[in-house]
Amino acid sequence: MGRTPDFAAERKRMVDRLLASGYIRDPRVRDAFLAVPREAFIRPEDRDDAYADVPLPIGRGQTISAPSMIAIMLEEARLRPGERVLEIGTGSGYHAALLGRIVGPENVVTIERLPDVAEWGRSNLAHVGLASVTVVVGDGSLGYPERAPYACIMATAGAPRIPDAWPAQLAPGGRIVAPVGATRHGQVLVVATLGPDGTLRIREGTPCAFVPLVGEDAWPE
Ligand code: SAH
Repeated sequence: MGRTPDFAAERKRMVDRLLASGYIRDPRVRDAFLAVPREAFIRPEDRDDAYADVPLPIGRGQTISAPSMIAIMLEEARLRPGERVLEIGTGSGYHAALLGRIVGPENVVTIERLPDVAEWGRSNLAHVGLASVTVVVGDGSLGYPERAPYACIMATAGAPRIPDAWPAQLAPGGRIVAPVGATRHGQVLVVATLGPDGTLRIREGTPCAFVPLVGEDAWPE
């Protein structure tokens, strides 16, 4: 204790490292990481690690991903301003905040199954001026048809397979970026693109370890 961290300087250093290691390539992704204060989305006791490249606990057994993992996902999504995005698994709201900085906060819907976690994420987003990100409570394994179609559906919890609802709620050319795996705690990052003929082109990327996606078309409770 006693140290007052210079979060802005730490944030800049984190982004420099993510650029140097090649995790960030898109200037829009870079600017989003520079704009969002990660310390506002983590528990006070973890603030010394706010800009370490590690996942952090956010309570209820859930975690906020390491910045490099989030960077990989945001790069894979190839998002442009104005595109509508559905995030599955609001958690702290940090990932949704980055999405909001890239596509515009009014274009982001994020869905969380645990009401108290959703409320915490919503208040974190409001504190950093992103109250126009829509936070809904519900089961993201069913997507969120009310605001479909989406240019991108991005999951931050691990699914046993891609739920049927997700491709059904994509716009033409839309992308799914999601950890998918045969066990509850190990996945590979899947990037799926909806082709003009309505079929999904699926590419498997980096191994990863997200908390499980729990829902009707996902893992049981
Ligand atoms: N993106 C978050 C981290 C998410 S951790 C962040 O930036 O902090 C994964 C979250 O997914 C947890 O909060 C968990 O409760 C939620 N989750 C799990 N299954 C879900 C489902 N079916 N629908 C919505 N949220 C779900």
